[in-house]
Amino acid sequence: MSETVDDEAADEHAVDRETVDRTREQAADADRVIVKAGTNSLTDAESNLDDEKLDKLVDDLVDLLDRGKEIILVSSGAVGAGKGRVGNGEETLEELQALSTVGQSHLMRRYTESFERHGYTVAQILLTQDDLENPDRFTNFHNTIETLLEWGVVPIINENDAIGTEELRIGDNDMISASIAVGVGVDLLVTLTDVGGVYTGNPKEDDSAALIDAVGENYGYVQGLVDESAGEEFGGIQTKVSGARTVSEHGIPAVIAKSTEPEVLEQIATQKAVGTIFVPINGGHNE
Ligand code: GLU
Repeated sequence: MSETVDDEAADEHAVDRETVDRTREQAADADRVIVKAGTNSLTDAESNLDDEKLDKLVDDLVDLLDRGKEIILVSSGAVGAGKGRVGNGEETLEELQALSTVGQSHLMRRYTESFERHGYTVAQILLTQDDLENPDRFTNFHNTIETLLEWGVVPIINENDAIGTEELRIGDNDMISASIAVGVGVDLLVTLTDVGGVYTGNPKEDDSAALIDAVGENYGYVQGLVDESAGEEFGGIQTKVSGARTVSEHGIPAVIAKSTEPEVLEQIATQKAVGTIFVPINGGHNE
């Protein structure tokens, strides 16, 4: 079958092989990794927490821990898990915020159990964007993270949806994980989602959409494709691309990959081609 116009354009804009390989090596060597998991990676179609998905995520994270890496998990799923517990159909901001409080404790119970299977202890940190912007609060947050990591405890972070002043939006955790990645100083950001990375179109609607394996000098081209395929709504692939781009501008590689991909984190840790990798940019723009 001949290549589509999209494929040809993507090939033309592809990041060179050597740069991709170097970035995969840097990602594989990361000592401190922040992993963000979205609601779809943790819940089923009825919005119940999906034990299999959660255990799979934890097994993947434990693979990194067993390799001696430090991990920080940013997990969504509080509102989703709350809906599964209390019932669907709620939609006012107050209801969503209240649902998050039900779902968050349920989520943490499951994480605690799941990590215990491997002998690891977890900790919960809930924060808002304000906490990240206020220097004193950020210092406290940072110190807590460092202490937990020293102890070998896995910090699990979510936005404090019940008291966040902004409207609760899917996608906030994409921004929060990028801010934490830069502020705390990690070596790699991995965003796990229900699509396999960044595509030339929306893979959920367009069978011919092709995976873009790396984003670097082609950022302008990729951003144009994402804007075109994803529309105006907040969340989804745009916030993931924006978060990954932010960390790459701080010299940190980032990967967007599918949470259901077998041993997805191990694949990254062994330099396999998985998802879309963002090339770190040292010293400004590379376009
Ligand atoms: N904090 C929300 C939740 O746990 C999700 C926000 C997001 O996905 O960015 O349900």
